[in-house]
Amino acid sequence: MNVATVRPPYIDPAAKEILAAADTPRRALFLDRDGVINIDHGYVHRPEQTDWMPGIFELCRQACEKGYLLIVVTNQAGIGRGYYNEQQFLEYTAWVHRIFSGKGVPLLATYYCPHHPEAGIGEYLAQCRCRKPRPGMLQAAMRDWDADSTLSLMLGDKDTDMQAAQAADIGRGYRIAKNFLERQRCIFK
Ligand SMILES: [Mg+2]
Ligand SMILES: [Zn+2]
Repeated sequence: MNVATVRPPYIDPAAKEILAAADTPRRALFLDRDGVINIDHGYVHRPEQTDWMPGIFELCRQACEKGYLLIVVTNQAGIGRGYYNEQQFLEYTAWVHRIFSGKGVPLLATYYCPHHPEAGIGEYLAQCRCRKPRPGMLQAAMRDWDADSTLSLMLGDKDTDMQAAQAADIGRGYRIAKNFLERQRCIFK
C-alpha cells in the first residue's frame, strides 16, 4: 500500500484579495462538491456535465457577507480509478472557480483526494488520510489558511462529510437534506 500525502489544493488566482476581505479570526465554510455545489451525476469532470445545485450561489453569498472563506473539499476517486486525470480535474476546477468568481462569490481553494483504498490504480491505491471520512483535507486547509475550526462550518451530502468535520473539530456540520438549499435557511451567525 502506498503512503499518500494530502495534495496541494487548487488555489484561486484571487486568493490574496479573498483573504483580505475575510473576517478575522478566519472562519471557513467547507463545501463538499458533488451533491452540494453540483448535482452528483457521478464522476462529473466536464463543464457540460455540470448542473448547479439550486440555491448554492445564494447560500455562498450569505456566507461571504458573513465573512466566511469558501473552501471546497472533495473526494475524487475518479482520478484514482483512471476515469480522468489530475490535469483534467484541475482544469475543470479552474472553470468552477471562474463561475463562482463571476457570481461574486469566489472560492478560495479546492482540496481534493485522488486516492481510493481498493480501486485506486498505481500510486492512487492508498489508505490515505485525505479521503473523507478522514479529516486530512480539512486539517490541511485550516492550517494553510489559518482558519479557526470551531468557527467553521461543513456542508455535505453524506455521513462521511459529517464524520470528517467532526474528526477535524469543525464547529458545525450540515448535511444537505432534500430542499435544504432551496429553503435558504440562514446557517451563518
Ligand atoms: Mg458529495
Ligand atoms: Zn487521499
